Order: sequence, then structure tokens, then C-alpha cells
Amino acid sequence: MTATATGAPTAVDDRPVIVVGGGPTGLTAALELAYHGVPSIVLEAGRQRGDGSRAIALHRTALLVWERLGCAEPMLEQGTVWLTRRTFFREREVHTLLMPEPSAGELPTFVNLPQYRTEDCLLRRLRATSSIDLHWEHRVVGVVQTDSGVTVEAQTPDGTVRVSGSYLLACDGARSSVRKLLALRFPGTTYPDRFLIADIRTDLPLPPEPRFFFDHPTNPRSTVLIHPQPDGVWRIDWQLGHSASVADECAPDALRRRIRGLIGELPYELVWLSDYQFHQRQLARLRHGRVFFLGDAAHLVAPFGARGLNSAIHDVENLGWKLAWAIQGRAPESLLDTYQQERWPAQRHDQRVTNATMRFMAPRTRAQRLRRGMILRLSTVSKAARRRVNSGRMSQPFTYRSSPILVRGDGWRERWPNAPRPGARVPDVACRIVAELPVRDAPVTWLRRLIGGGFLALYFAADDADALRFAAGVRAERHPGWVAVRPVLPEAPRVCGVLPAIWDHIGAIGKGFAAEPGALFLVRPDGHLAARRRRARPADVARLVAVAAGNSPTTADGG
Ligand SMILES: Cc1cc2nc3c(=O)[nH]c(=O)nc-3n(C[C@H](O)[C@H](O)[C@H](O)COP(=O)(O)OP(=O)(O)OC[C@H]3O[C@@H](n4cnc5c(N)ncnc54)[C@H](O)[C@@H]3O)c2cc1C
Repeated sequence: MTATATGAPTAVDDRPVIVVGGGPTGLTAALELAYHGVPSIVLEAGRQRGDGSRAIALHRTALLVWERLGCAEPMLEQGTVWLTRRTFFREREVHTLLMPEPSAGELPTFVNLPQYRTEDCLLRRLRATSSIDLHWEHRVVGVVQTDSGVTVEAQTPDGTVRVSGSYLLACDGARSSVRKLLALRFPGTTYPDRFLIADIRTDLPLPPEPRFFFDHPTNPRSTVLIHPQPDGVWRIDWQLGHSASVADECAPDALRRRIRGLIGELPYELVWLSDYQFHQRQLARLRHGRVFFLGDAAHLVAPFGARGLNSAIHDVENLGWKLAWAIQGRAPESLLDTYQQERWPAQRHDQRVTNATMRFMAPRTRAQRLRRGMILRLSTVSKAARRRVNSGRMSQPFTYRSSPILVRGDGWRERWPNAPRPGARVPDVACRIVAELPVRDAPVTWLRRLIGGGFLALYFAADDADALRFAAGVRAERHPGWVAVRPVLPEAPRVCGVLPAIWDHIGAIGKGFAAEPGALFLVRPDGHLAARRRRARPADVARLVAVAAGNSPTTADGG
């Protein structure tokens, strides 16, 4: 038994967590749990990883989770970075989305990699992780939970087996068996439009940029999306409309005509062919006792905007540390309820954004069709109309709002508008870590590399003396070992007592946090801000951490 900060005893549970589904969500969830020291058993129905290219656009915020878990390097090596996304009406460019060129060590905003290769990178890492037990050909067909644990029944080639664990993470995709076994509704809409996807390998004389066409001459009144992938592969995604016969469209002659319409007489090889109908669905509750839903099992969105897989990884990073903290007795079980309080609104937001895109891309009413036609025609001449052209709003990190573990107060809205607010993902900026004196080789790193294992308290010190005073004050307070308090100094430190310290050598942290000396920012293990103080006292650290870990109820100012 261990004691939480409020003194409430919580048992340390060393049973594994059961992860149902070995797709990208389940594999990442198992790795995230291992990162926090929690063993897991992954049960996957398939004989091996899926071979569909499916989700290709990986966002920086998913990459930084995978980087922390030790699998991003091959993704970055193999993937195609793109910095521009172009939208056309017929053949006229009407909107251009530009991403900043990443500087050395910075993660790019998007990398394209077919899903099976992303899964390969995850599997390679997983196989090297002893606390994860992965079982192929284990189709979960029964779930029983009690107050103290979960048992599942899985069909295997050798018969039915039972597996028990502390909690269950349902990562079993759009047709989730766990969702069905718990008799949960999956409310939302399925749009009637059908889409056809072909990945082809060809030598297109185009820069590696996604191109989205409304009313392309080869697909009148419908859309075409062309996305670059590594090794000369291009994803082509055609909107077919409601009444199209997918079988007819996939017939070799029809498909060849479509491809030739876009690439002319260039030689090509068909790598993957699929069709889909998109769904906009979300579970009402993501937690059911000891069962949590993540990824496609919890929410489905149309792929335009790359919010499917990326938001699944945000689910994982949000739940991972909370589950570990609860299991290891650092936080009460009630911390787990904040998964619903934080991720459900984030998923709701994705639903709203993609619904608006789909109303524009696949209008269902006459009024919607007229509006879209007018905006597209006007977009060739009007900037205001161009802003209304919606070919998918690309995935962005979400700012959590109504959660009891976020500490408001200290002018969180009015008086400090440029600082990240509690719930926001903190900026990733370059800095130097000074571990020893004299400062010679303090390596340049990125703030994201300091985030993950526990809470990180950044104290913006005026100078060494201020940092020493704050450190002495913090030492006098009782706070758990999983909080790292780091001074952020504008100049290279000169006294050992402040080490390890962050040297804000180019002023990027100060700028990114809009911070002046005396400010404190408490960053959670998932990289979201838990609390901030403009004029911090050492005693604030323990008090804010207690709220952020769910060990102490919040008040308006977190006091
Ligand atoms: C054609 C297509 C194109 C897409 N394009 C994009 C895109 O461009 N961008 C994007 O972000 N998203 C895209 N997506 C969505 C993206 O692929 C999903 O969001 C992503 O796969 C979600 O991962 P997941 O692990 O939650 O689910 P899945 O990848 O579906 O994995 C679920 C796993 O659970 C296993 N399973 C199911 N039932 C059981 C059971 N009873 N017991 C044990 N295991 C079980 C399955 O075998 C599977 O391996 C696309 C999807 C499709 C179909």
C-alpha cells in the first residue's frame, strides 16, 4: 500500500492491463503503459498486423508520443514530410495551407507514412519490451468485470482462453466487439457517399504535397485527393457519390481510366485498392467501470483532416499516465474519470470540425449544394470565399477546458493572454540542459524531451540567486519524487546548487510561455499544462501537483 498526498491509501495493483486490439491504438497504448511501468497483455484477433495503408498523415503531436516511446525515428526516416497542402476548384488553386519548415531537431507538422509501416515501427518496439505480452489470433468474445478486475474470453486456434487483468482498454476498432459485448450504442451518422482509394507507385512530376480538387475535370461535381507517400507511392482518393457501384468502379478498365485521367500515360503499379463510406460517430461515455474505449472503438470521423489515428494517439497519451498513476497508488481512482472529462469534448470537437467538412464536400440538401457551388465559384475571385472552402481542417492539438485537474485562476484568461492556458499543449521549443559546471557542452534539446515520466515544474528564475531561493523553498515542502522542478534561466548558470537547469539560450521558452521571472508552469506527463502562476511561491508546487494528480479538489484559483 502507498499513501496519496491526501493520505488516502491506494493499493498498488501489479496485474496486467488487458488491451483488446493490436491496431495502432492498442499497440501505442501497450507501449505507453510500459513506459509508465505498467505491464499489459494485448489480444489481437488477426494472425498478423493489418496490411492496409489507411491512415497516412501523422501529426507532430502523435509523433512526439511515439518519439517518447522510442519508435518515431524509423517513422521519420521512412516518412514523407510535407509543408504545403493545396486546394483547387477545377484546375484553379483556391487555397494553400503552409506549414513551417522544421528546424534541426524540431518535429515536422505532418509526416506521411502508410499505416502498416507505422504499425511495423510500433511492433518492432513492442517486441523489445518485456512487460508487453502480445497474442495474435485471440478474438475477444466475452467480457466480465467486477469491482476489482476484468476477465475476458478469447477464441484462439487452440480453443477458448480466459485472461484476467486490472483494467481493459478497448482498442478494437470501428466494429469494436467490446462495445457490442457491453451493449453500448454508437450514435452518429453514416454518410451515403462512397469513396474509392488507390495507392499507386508512379513517377509523378509533382512536389510531395497533398492536392485536393473540387470538381476535377476527370471527376465532375466530386472531389479528388492526391497524397504523397514514401517510395514514389501516391494515394488517390475519389469521391464516387451515393449511387455509384463500387464493384463497377473497381473493375480494371474503369479504374485504369480513372488513374490515366490523372497521371496520363506514366507507368504505374497498383499498390493498394480500397473503398470506404465515412462515419461520424462517438460513444456517449468512454469509461464503463474498468473498461475504457480509445481510438476507432470510441469515435469515428471522416479522414479529411487526419483526425482519426492522430486523435486516437491523443486518447492514449491522456489515459496512459492516469491509469499508471491510479494503478501505482499515486493518485485516486477518480483521476480516471478525467479521461471522459478531457477526451470526450476533444472528440466532440473533431466531430464538429469534420461534420462541417463533410457538409461542404458531400452536401446532402439542396441548400447545402447551392451554398457550396456559390462559394467555390466565388473562391476564384474572392479571398473571403476562399476562406470558406472546406477541404478538411487539419488536425490540431486540443485545449482541455472543463476538467477538475486543471487549475484555473491567476488571470488564466484576462491578464495573461499570451501564455499557454491550463489544458493547452505546451509549446515545443529549443533550450539547453545544464547538468554540470562549467557550462561547456550543454546540449541543445527540445522541451518535449523533458516531458513524459512525471510532472515537470518550470520555474522562470531571474538569476542563479532566485533559482537557489526557489529550490530551497521547494525542498522544504513535501512533494512526491515524480515531480521534477527545473529552473529556467536566461543566462548560463554559474552555481551548482541550481542544477540541473534549463538555459533558455535563445529566449524561446520565455517567448513561448510569455513568462517573466517569478512565473511557474506545471506540465503534465502528457505535455498539457496543468497550472500556471505568475508570481509563484515554492509552496505552490506541491499544492498544484496535488490538484493536477487528482489528489486534492480544485478551487477557482487552485488554492
Ligand atoms: C480506407 C481507410 C482510410 C483511412 N484513412 C485515414 C487517414 O487518411 N487519416 C486518418 O487519421 N485516419 C484514416 N483512417 C482511419 C484510421 O485507419 C483509424 O483511425 C485507425 O486505424 C484507428 O486505429 P485503431 O487501432 O483504433 O483501430 P484499427 O486500426 O481498426 O485496429 C483495431 C484492431 O482490433 C482488432 N480487433 C477487432 N475486434 C477484435 C476482437 N474482438 N478481439 C481482438 N482484436 C480485435 C482488429 O483486428 C484490429 O487489428 C482510415 C480508415 C480507412 C478504413
